[in-house]
Amino acid sequence: MKTEIVTVAPAGDADKVIFQRAGEILRAGGLVVFPTETVYGLGANALDPAAAEKIFAAKGRPGDNPLIVHVADPKDAEAFAVATPVYYQLAERFMPGPLTVILDKKPVVPSTVTGGLDTVAVRCPAHPVARALIRTAGIPVAAPSANLSGSPSPTSAAHAAADLCGRVDMILDGGECAIGVESTVIRLTEDGCVLLRPGEILPRELASVVKHVHVSPAVLDPGAAGEHPASPGMKYRHYAPRTKLVLVDATSDEFAAFVKGQQGACGVLAYTEDLDRFADRQVMDLGAREDPAAQMHNLFRVLREADHMQVPVIYAPLPPKTDEYLALYNRIIRAAGCEVLKGRS
Ligand code: AMP
Ligand code: MG
Repeated sequence: MKTEIVTVAPAGDADKVIFQRAGEILRAGGLVVFPTETVYGLGANALDPAAAEKIFAAKGRPGDNPLIVHVADPKDAEAFAVATPVYYQLAERFMPGPLTVILDKKPVVPSTVTGGLDTVAVRCPAHPVARALIRTAGIPVAAPSANLSGSPSPTSAAHAAADLCGRVDMILDGGECAIGVESTVIRLTEDGCVLLRPGEILPRELASVVKHVHVSPAVLDPGAAGEHPASPGMKYRHYAPRTKLVLVDATSDEFAAFVKGQQGACGVLAYTEDLDRFADRQVMDLGAREDPAAQMHNLFRVLREADHMQVPVIYAPLPPKTDEYLALYNRIIRAAGCEVLKGRS
């Protein structure tokens, strides 16, 4: 399949024509990659089982890993999901934005989209290109991240093209994603919500709308998913560079000493302040130590570029488990396949 790659800005007459063509591709059952504020998405008509099927084929995604359905307006979810008062309270505060809410599904949603579950994930993205596309298409758009299953999520059109060129009809290039990690995913409960996947929206922010926020044990420990993982996508080794990545649980002095002590070639992911300490190694900048937003923005790009280092192993510091770093911890621990070494002597 020939993939058309088109640069878009949200306004302007020329772009109107592009959105109409992209919307037409979606309505006809095709695949369109588009930017969101979190990562790039691989979109298809969420109400067309054959179109949704194509997403799984293009990504090599396991069939039991459900898709998030994107809408231009929170109330558009009513066409296919049971929207509760709490959903609307959350929408009021966080949508459009990087929050995904799991709701009971209506029969119109094909089971391909929900991985056979009786719930459906709903998100209303803030990115102007995503919004223009969904609005022009006039249908709910199922869209997982636009990467091959298992590899780091794409935060630029070039990343998406590297994985999916020849597998999708169109890629809309809207520049780099501002946030850089995927949306916060929650399931509503009687007295609050369960955080299934951490993102830019933090537990304490959710707690300003719902009473209790329970962090699923699988967020910090992929092995803790139990017999029925609450969010199937979180059970896979994920986001991983091809090169082996190992996390080191250490202070910055201990991490520097640990790397110094390595005999063979290795790559290093380090905080900006520490880059000088690894001048004799191949090193990449994760962002400033106290700047989780910068680290989230950089993480997936750095994980992709790390493969160019041509080293047998890459070491990175284990992030803290505090709220602000929850999304980073959650992604990098999966990228490392849970390999964590103690860096203390
Ligand atoms: P992705 O679109 O690749 O960023 O992944 C979507 C995430 O949302 C995965 O972790 C899915 O497991 C999760 N998800 C989607 N639908 C549901 C659902 N109905 N229940 C629980 N988790 C879901
Ligand atoms: Mg994904």
